[in-house]
Amino acid sequence: MATEQTKFSVMCSLFNWTQRAKSPAKKRAKFRKFLDSFCADRNFFPAIRLVLPNLDRERGSYGLKESVLAISLIDALGMSRDSEDALRLINWRKGGAKTGANAGNFALVATEVLQRRQGTASGGLTIKEVNDLLDQLAASENRAEKTQVLSTFIQKTNAQEMKWIIMIVLKDLKLGISEKSIFHEFHPDAEDLFNVTCDLKLVCEKLRDRNQRHKRQDIEVGKAVRPQLAKRVANAAEAWKKLHGKEVVVECKFDGDRIQIHKNGTEIHFFSRNFLDHSEYAHAMSEIIQQNILVDRCILDGEMLVWDSSLNRFAEFGSNQEIGMHLYFCLATLKLLFSVLVTIFFPSLLQPRQQGMDLTVTDSYAVSFYLNGLAVNSSYLELRCRFGFSGWMNWLDVAFDILYFGDTSVIHQTLKERHEILRKVVRPLKGRLEILVPNGGLNSHCSSGEPCWSFIAHNVDEVEKFFKETIENRDEGIVIKDLGSKWEPSDRSGKWLKLKPEYIQAGTDLDVLIIETCFPFQVAQFLVGLAERPSPNTHPKRFISFCRVGTGLSDDELDALVTKLKPYFRKYEYPKKRPPSFYQVTNHSKERPDVWVDSPEKSIILSITSDIRTIESEVFAAPYSLRFPRIDRVRYDKAWYECLDVQSFIELVQSSNGT
Ligand code: ATP
Repeated sequence: MATEQTKFSVMCSLFNWTQRAKSPAKKRAKFRKFLDSFCADRNFFPAIRLVLPNLDRERGSYGLKESVLAISLIDALGMSRDSEDALRLINWRKGGAKTGANAGNFALVATEVLQRRQGTASGGLTIKEVNDLLDQLAASENRAEKTQVLSTFIQKTNAQEMKWIIMIVLKDLKLGISEKSIFHEFHPDAEDLFNVTCDLKLVCEKLRDRNQRHKRQDIEVGKAVRPQLAKRVANAAEAWKKLHGKEVVVECKFDGDRIQIHKNGTEIHFFSRNFLDHSEYAHAMSEIIQQNILVDRCILDGEMLVWDSSLNRFAEFGSNQEIGMHLYFCLATLKLLFSVLVTIFFPSLLQPRQQGMDLTVTDSYAVSFYLNGLAVNSSYLELRCRFGFSGWMNWLDVAFDILYFGDTSVIHQTLKERHEILRKVVRPLKGRLEILVPNGGLNSHCSSGEPCWSFIAHNVDEVEKFFKETIENRDEGIVIKDLGSKWEPSDRSGKWLKLKPEYIQAGTDLDVLIIETCFPFQVAQFLVGLAERPSPNTHPKRFISFCRVGTGLSDDELDALVTKLKPYFRKYEYPKKRPPSFYQVTNHSKERPDVWVDSPEKSIILSITSDIRTIESEVFAAPYSLRFPRIDRVRYDKAWYECLDVQSFIELVQSSNGT
């Protein structure tokens, strides 16, 4: 059967079966059978783009993350936004009795809701029709149009089919079969070809015949390459052991966006980690690249960061994330105001060039910033680019590798050799374009007091020391690289190792129990604990000190909380009395308790959130503590024994850390 005429319901059956099956070999065989039977015309792309939606770059972005999708579905189904099902969709993460086991999986929560509104019979859409509608969804410019397309989908599918449409839109099918296996089953050379082209359509078209091998292709300027990746290690000693006997460079792990710069004469592309061409960088960076990359054709691998030229340092942690955007926005507004005031009241202070309102790249920012500021109105992303263009905040590319130079790919050369090429190819420009090579580039700014960003390590202690410094500095961690290694697309086998502080998923709420508080209460600071995991069907017997938390509540909320707990506070007279046996704390002097809550049963649960990092804890009894915890809310609705236990917390940290 021709692929495009195959019913989408056939794909849904394949997806359902694959998701349920346990054996990887059977999953692969079933996929092969599907390709043979339902893509007999060897037009594989229409089907494979639905199996690997995260790799499909032919369609633009849908602009639909779960939260927007929830609202669009609510509207498409004609539900009231405060109906029970609408709230279920909006609060899909939360769970609770109603959403039950599906909590946290948007597509499943949506299926629950859809099942009550859609029939069970297949809508009969073909693969072509699904792709056409998805094209429309991606092309639609506003939520009303998207809602219209979703409504058409709903009319033409049943709940099961709609579930898979939603998963395709969210670009994660959770099939339990790796991308590698899918590629391999399709064609033995598919993964290799995809890694160097990032073009799924091209892969499907070039590799129509499974029995005909494809000559290994090298990287090309202008085609995104899947980046070399880093393998996670637990500590410096493990990293050192893994790279035993090798010459090793240790680098700061910058917290920006991984960007490949492809320069081909005047044509410049900025490919992100998921192979999108971020043309918005062009505005701020193209001229700098033209002037400071001293070769016509090349590919640089690096991290795009924000440089604060007024403070002469990388902009604060998180500035590339949503939260930072708000900060930038505030800064922008202040600077804008300042510029306007200066322009109006002290025009003579301005340089003639500024009075001319020069809109080219300039270091004298007052008026140009003002003009840029006015030009900014559409998106935060654009806002960031405009900042890059202006004086205070600039885009800075830190190139840590080079993949192509002149007419040849250099990925087969050693990292040490590539560093040498990088030195020749890039003329560093402080705060705009830097190279990360030992004893040069970004490191040549190292002088007393200024940090160094990479070095050749001679022993594990040096690695450990550098890691500690980066953490103090609130950097993301370190990357440890084998200087003798070549650069391999998509490789995570351990040529690069990353060491990061452990973290928990941003936004995770942790339910902890108040153990103690400082006395008197003017600076409310609660010592909170995690439960020692109780035996099944019993309540916890001990609580382990975990962190101190004070911020997050309003004065009224705080007053109410302290009033409730006050009758149960017992003053602790150090060192005469030991802590009550149901609390485990350390003897650390910083954590010398003031007043205890006299038994866990009388205490109250707090939901706390934190900076995404955890830290190994010496002052608290739990193995980890949190950086910058904040109280999200007081959980009067929870019983004391519903406190998170230490074991579950550790599992949470481990599952959050992944690769
Ligand atoms: P993470 O979430 O830890 O960044 P990841 O899966 O996005 O992981 P990894 O390959 O595992 O990516 O980690 C390396 C990432 O770290 C790179 O993709 C890059 O964006 C970033 N990075 C920052 N500094 C460096 C550096 N000096 N060398 C290599 N990668 C760096």
